[in-house]
Formats: sequence, C-alpha cells, structure tokens
Amino acid sequence: MKLTERILIFLLAGTIALTMLTACDGNGKSDPDDTEGKSSQITSTIAKPQEEEPEAHTHAPGGWQIDGANHWRLCACGEVMDKAIHTVKDNACTGCEAEVVDWEDGTMSIWQCDEQGYAVLKLDYDAEGNLILKETGDIIYNEDGQILSELYTQYPGGEYPASSRRTEYSYYDDGDVHWEKRSANGMPFWDTEYAENSAGERYVVKEITYRMDGVKQITKYDENAEIVSQIWYDVNGVKIENSSKFDKEVCKVLFGTWKSELDFARILSLTMIEEEMVLPADRIPPCFVDITVVFREDGSFLSTGKIDREQLRSSMVELSVEMIYLSAEMEGLTREEADEQFRAMTGMSIREMVESEADEGAEELYNTINEESEGVYYIEDRKLYMADDWNEVVEGGRFNCSGNTFTLTVPDNELGIKMDFEFNKVAE
Ligand SMILES: [Zn+2]
Ligand SMILES: [Zn+2]
Repeated sequence: MKLTERILIFLLAGTIALTMLTACDGNGKSDPDDTEGKSSQITSTIAKPQEEEPEAHTHAPGGWQIDGANHWRLCACGEVMDKAIHTVKDNACTGCEAEVVDWEDGTMSIWQCDEQGYAVLKLDYDAEGNLILKETGDIIYNEDGQILSELYTQYPGGEYPASSRRTEYSYYDDGDVHWEKRSANGMPFWDTEYAENSAGERYVVKEITYRMDGVKQITKYDENAEIVSQIWYDVNGVKIENSSKFDKEVCKVLFGTWKSELDFARILSLTMIEEEMVLPADRIPPCFVDITVVFREDGSFLSTGKIDREQLRSSMVELSVEMIYLSAEMEGLTREEADEQFRAMTGMSIREMVESEADEGAEELYNTINEESEGVYYIEDRKLYMADDWNEVVEGGRFNCSGNTFTLTVPDNELGIKMDFEFNKVAE
C-alpha cells in the first residue's frame, strides 16, 4: 500500500476521534454565574420520591451519567440522584458539562469528556431520538499526563462491541513521542517509530503496516523522509522478496547491451555551480562519459561508466577556473583584477590554485564514474526502475523504446535536475 493510502485510511479511522476532540475543546465549561439565566429556566429537577430504606445508608453520588435527554448520578447502591434534563447553552449542558450538537439533518450528538478534554463517551441520536451509535473512550495517562493508551469502542446498537481501535504511545525523556502502535479490534495495523536526526529533531524512522493475514511491511526512512527500504515479511517473519515486479514479457525489449554518451560537463557544472550562477554554454569545456548497460533476462543489470581521466581533469579545472572568474565578474572585477587580488592573498594565480587542488578531486570522481554497478530493473507504467536490489525503493525514469534506441529521463534528486539519456543497442 502506498504511504498516502495508509495515511488516508488512518485519517478516516481518526476522524471520529478528531471530531470528538474538536467538539470537547474549549467551550465545555459552564458559567457558574449564569445559573439564574434563561438557560436554567428549562431545568426541571425530577426529584425521586423518598423511599424507605431498610438500613441506614448515606448515598454517595458518582460521576455524571448521560443519555441524549438527561443527566444523573448513581450511588453504588443503584440509587439515581440529581436526575435532570440537559440545560444546553452554547452547545454545552450547564449541569453535566456534556457537549451537545444538533446537526442540520436533525440528528444529535452528545459527548462526555475527561478532565483533559478527551471524549470518554459519545452518543449519536437520529431525528426521532433513537440511539444510533455509542462510542466509549478509555484514555490511560502516565504520571506526566501524557496519553499511554487510548481505546475507542463503538457499539452501534447491539449488545457486543462492533469495533474498537487503540493507540498506544511511548515517549522520550523530553516528552516527544518515541513510538505509536495502532490496532483495530485487537489486531495491530500500523506502528510508527521516531528517531532523532543530527540536528536533534524527531523524524519518522520506521513504519510497520500489518495485514489481516499476518503479513507485515516494514518501511524505513532516512532523516529527509526518503524511503530507505520497504520489505514485506510473511506470517512467520520471513522476508518476502519484492521480485514480482519484473515482468519478462514487458522487459524483453531491453534484453542485451546498450550504450549512451553523457555530456558530463553539464552535470559537473550543475554540481559545482550554484543555481544563480549560470555559466554560459560556451565556457563549459566538453567532457563525455560512455555508459554501457547490460540488461539481463533474469531482471538484473550491469552498468559501467567510462571517462577519459585527462579529459575529466582538464574539464574540472576549466570549469573551476571559469566559475571563480564568473563570481568575480559578478562582484564587478575583471579577470586580471581577480587574479591580482588572488595572488596577493595566496601567492598563486586562480588557475595555479585550481590546478594544485585538481588531482585529488578528479581522481575521486574518476573512480566513482568508472565503477561497475550491478542491480535489478523492471518496467512499470512506462517507467524504468533500476535499483540495488528488490527492496530498495527508487524513483523510475520516463522510458521510451523504439527498436534499437531508447530514451530515459531520470530525476536526480541530489542535483535537483532531470538527466536525459539516449541509449543505442549494441549489436551482439
Ligand atoms: Zn446509595
Ligand atoms: Zn446535562
């Protein structure tokens, strides 16, 4: 299931809880000075006739009990006390503090909340005054007043609870949520775990979604909310490989060896130059990478890049030099003035300085480009996906194949650009 779908489902499940929270928030307190106001005019205390009691007993009324019409208190002996019709003012009963909302369609909802404002009881009545839904909330707090567990149970009519959902929480010492576990009717359905990033902020590091058949999916995230891995586990906890996405029939257009030439100077300039500094095209020295990809019939691929070491080095040097001159020009300096200033500071010209630093950077890049990489691939929805393994989640590239040529547009999130490739098939 996609993340958005899971979020939607959770939101749906949480809608009622949210409705209750909103309804219970704020205006639930009655005004003690208003007891003589017009709202109390409709109060009619139904005093229970005194009955003779066999034993001396002083009634001890418990908390308010409610239904759609009345509130009352119960003594442990069963005695009904303080029974009265709700006196509603500003959507709240001035007697028992229940929240009352008359909906436009004639239905009515009434909520009872705990001291923290969370609903412990919700009753819905139809236009004829029949109870159509009862929901109870059991909220357990820790000593710091944080919610450890909230359980909502719905009784739509019958004697037995029809559905319940529970959320349990644990907390870091600083009060932030560490994890949340949600279950429905006693079955787990969604866990979320948080971690701390290098800046000390909390982020979602792991999510587990459970299916009714016992299969679960664990998704791990990095601190940028990018999915690191998404792995299914069967009912015995054994990893299920996600290899089913490889469709041999769909992928057969790719079987074989393909070559592409990539203008690496453009990529280089995009990595090295900040966005607002656009280097004119004629100032970027050429630099090409030969890319070879072998798409195998088993769903795996082998990719190699080849770049000329000298061409890469000189391209990087030219680009760096031009970049520095460009920023100097933006400051209003000529090239000569820039060199003069630079020499005064470092004893070197701009080019000399860049040359002295170039070897290390070029060597690192050269090794990265010339590295072989192996992985798996599949085509879905006219997109080509290439990943390290079946459990790595990658973005697909727009893919168009006709005969011995295919084009591929791949988003590069690190550079924030789209890379276009044209691949040509190599005759076997
Ligand atoms: Zn009693
Ligand atoms: Zn009331």
